[in-house]
Amino acid sequence: MQKKWDLATLAIHGGHKKEQFGALVTPLYQSATFVFDNAQQGGARFAGEEPGYIYTRLGNPTTDELERKMALLEGAESAAACASGMAAVSAALMTHLKAGDHLVASNVVYGCTFALLNTQLTRFGIDVSFVDFTDTLAVEAAVQPNTKLVFCETPVNPHLEVYDLRAIADIAKRNGLVSIVDNTFMTPLLQQPLSMGIDMVVHSATKYLNGHGDVIAGIVCGSKEHIDGLKHDILKDFGGVMSPHDAWLILRGLKTLDVRLTRHCDSAEIIANFLENHPQISQVFYPGLKSHQGHVYLGKQMKRAGGVVAFELNGDMKTAINFVNALSLFTIAVSLGDAESLVQHPASMTHSAYSPEAKEEAGITDNLLRISVGLENVEDLIADIEQAFIKGN
Ligand SMILES: *Cc1c(COP(=O)(O)O)cnc(C)c1O
Repeated sequence: MQKKWDLATLAIHGGHKKEQFGALVTPLYQSATFVFDNAQQGGARFAGEEPGYIYTRLGNPTTDELERKMALLEGAESAAACASGMAAVSAALMTHLKAGDHLVASNVVYGCTFALLNTQLTRFGIDVSFVDFTDTLAVEAAVQPNTKLVFCETPVNPHLEVYDLRAIADIAKRNGLVSIVDNTFMTPLLQQPLSMGIDMVVHSATKYLNGHGDVIAGIVCGSKEHIDGLKHDILKDFGGVMSPHDAWLILRGLKTLDVRLTRHCDSAEIIANFLENHPQISQVFYPGLKSHQGHVYLGKQMKRAGGVVAFELNGDMKTAINFVNALSLFTIAVSLGDAESLVQHPASMTHSAYSPEAKEEAGITDNLLRISVGLENVEDLIADIEQAFIKGN
């Protein structure tokens, strides 16, 4: 029996098909449509009687390779490539929901996911309860007769709280619900929600999966039945499919996912420890620290703590803003998972749409900052933070 390949190996070789001219790298099939030999063949493809490509919104060889690879990495039967992380989140939700349905979601989610659930889906008669998912009893208590689905992400932005995926999967199973988890912050190399009983995984491939800050894309992984439904009912008609060029770039990015993540995690751990011991920092949020709520899940649910760190400076809004402006190696931008280290101020950027009360409840304080630790030399990053403390004061 062949040894089961490690995820680092699968990220390079998984899903690859031998290419007709022997090209090492999967070609980019940058074509909107595909030619039929004759009218009968076109008819047979539309009827599903003959396999083969028709039109790129319905399928494309480059995008297909990415889908096969991501399915292997997540341990899923199938995957669907989408135009953005939000296209993936919305397609996964719409596959299962219709007017009159209800879902239970974590009270902290990615900002646009919150808007989608709270503002857009309600326009179509879909109701949502937001619950603190660290309290699994509260999750189960929120289930109603018309509840169809549970949704969360973990670790969750920006304080990186961790939710118990096995417990959430159990609640979903007991109540006949579909469970969906946004795995963007971890990637399948650090966390595999399907292996813990979750039904569907969504990703913003914009972040670590691509890893180079040059693509907006998303992916959904799950059972063949769920993904076939998603492709046929949602992607085909709503149209949020991934461009083959983006799929090609993500295939390239995935080859280095394992080495990149190792570096992101190593450096984030060093920086989190450095910040925790720094007199100008009041609190650090990173699951790799013993002081963090999510630490108990390390090694059980998630292999490592990831590359995002949040922290509060001693001081106010002005202290935080001055510190951000004084950094020179950290770039001020609101993404994560790139080679470049990024810094952002949640209160005025990612969470600026929150009301003052919502900010208070979510702990989005004026002195809170979030960094995405990049691939630079970690001593250079620490030196940059040190000089910003001095210069920003
Ligand atoms: C960025 C992000 C999204 C949205 O992805 P886009 O590719 O920007 O559409 C969704 N969830 C999480 C956790 C994210 O970080």
